[in-house]
Amino acid sequence: MAILDQVTSQEAIELENKYGAHNYHPLPVVLAKGEGVHVWDVEGKQYYDFLSAYSAVNQGHCHPKIVNAMHKQVSTLALTSRAFHNDMLGKYEKFACEFFGFDKLLPMNTGAEAVETALKVCRKWAYEVKGIKENEAEIIVCENNFHGRTTTIISFSNDPVARKNFGPYTDGFIKIAYDNLDALENALKSNPNVGGFLVEPIQGEAGVYVPAPDYLAKAKALCAKYNVLFIADEVQTGIARTGRLLATCGNCSCIDKNCSNEPEVKPDVLILGKALSGGAYPVSAVLANNAIMNVIRPGNHGSTFGGNPVAAAVAMAALEVVRDEKLAENAYKLGELFRSEINKFIETSSIVNLVRGKGLLNAIVINDDEDSDTAWNICLALRDNGLLAKPTHGNIIRFAPPLVMTETQLLDCVSIIIKTLKEFEK
Ligand SMILES: *Cc1c(COP(=O)(O)O)cnc(C)c1O
Repeated sequence: MAILDQVTSQEAIELENKYGAHNYHPLPVVLAKGEGVHVWDVEGKQYYDFLSAYSAVNQGHCHPKIVNAMHKQVSTLALTSRAFHNDMLGKYEKFACEFFGFDKLLPMNTGAEAVETALKVCRKWAYEVKGIKENEAEIIVCENNFHGRTTTIISFSNDPVARKNFGPYTDGFIKIAYDNLDALENALKSNPNVGGFLVEPIQGEAGVYVPAPDYLAKAKALCAKYNVLFIADEVQTGIARTGRLLATCGNCSCIDKNCSNEPEVKPDVLILGKALSGGAYPVSAVLANNAIMNVIRPGNHGSTFGGNPVAAAVAMAALEVVRDEKLAENAYKLGELFRSEINKFIETSSIVNLVRGKGLLNAIVINDDEDSDTAWNICLALRDNGLLAKPTHGNIIRFAPPLVMTETQLLDCVSIIIKTLKEFEK
C-alpha cells in the first residue's frame, strides 16, 4: 500500500492495531475530514461530532480563521525555540493575559505539560514566597480527578488502570473528596505545608460532575484564608465550553447575563489547553499574576516547542473566534435547550436516569451497571445514526459538540439521540 493510497475504514483500523501501541480503545469509525460541527469518515458518511476532541475543537473543525492564521505563520516562521525571541510570542502573551485578566503567561503545548508547569510554579511559590521548608510542600487534589497522563500526574489519580505498574509515584499530594468544603478545610487546617489546591471546575473525565454552585467560590476563599494557591485546571472547562469564557468566570464578560446566580472566582493559577488552539495545534498555557509567576527564572522550566510562533498565531485566532462569534453565549443558550429537551425525554424513559452539565459540557447517565456495555452499545448505535459520542465510564455518555452549532442543528442532534436511546428502552 502506497502512503497516498486511500485506505478503507477496515484497513485503517487494522493498521493501527498492528503498528500502533494499544493505549486507546477508539469507537470503530475512521474520520478523514472535518468542517464546523461535522466530520466525515473514509467512506464519506457524515456525522455530528459530539465529543469535539474532548473539547479541543470548541470553535468547530477547521475553522477558516484559525486555519488561515496557521497557514500564514507556518510558511513564515514555525519554530525558533526560546533560545531566541520571536515576533509573535510577546503579542500573544499580551493578548491572552488581557483576555483572561492575568499579569503573565507561561506557554506549553499539551494539557498535561501545563498541569505539570502549574505544579512546579506552585511548589516554587510555596518555598520561596510562603516559606515552607524545602521538600515538604504539599498540594491538595480531588478524588476522581483527571489532569493528564505524566508520571507525576498519575501519582495522584485514583484510576487503577491509569496508575497500576507505573510506580514509584511522586510524593507531595493530599487527596480529598470533590465538592466537599469540609474536607478541604480539614486538609488545610491539619497540613501547614500545603502550597496549593488543584481542582477541575467541573470533573469532565469523571463523568461531568458539576459541583454545588458556591463550591468554587468558597474553596477559593478557604485557600485565601490559609494562604494557599487556588489552581484551576480549565483545560476542558475553559474557552466557552460551559457557557462562560471560563467555568470559574475570571474576567468574564457574560457575568451579567448568564452567571448572576454564581459568583466570579478568580483562580490564582489558571491552566488552559485543548480549545486554546481550536484543535488546530497543541497549545497550552499557565496564567498567573506577577507575585506568583515571578518565582520562575531562566533555566527553571521550558519546552522546545512551547511559545512557538505558530502556536501564538493559532491561539490568538482561536480566542478571537470565541469572542467574535460569541461562543460562550451560544454554549449557554444551547446547553439550556439540550438539557431541557433531554429532561423531557427522561420523564418517560427507562434507559436514561439523568442529564447533567453546564453549557455544552453535558452527560447522560444510563440506567445500567457501571461495568455494563450499554453505554458503549448506545455510542455504536449513535454512530450508525450519524452522531459521534464516547462513554466516559461504563454507564455515562458525554455530549460536547463544537460551540459553533446552530439551534436547528442542536435540535436535529437531540432527535437523533432520543431516537437512538428509544432503541434501547427495555
Ligand atoms: C485533557 C485534559 C488534560 C490533559 O490534556 P492533554 O493535552 O491530553 O495532556 C488535563 N486536564 C483536564 C481537565 C483535561 O480534560
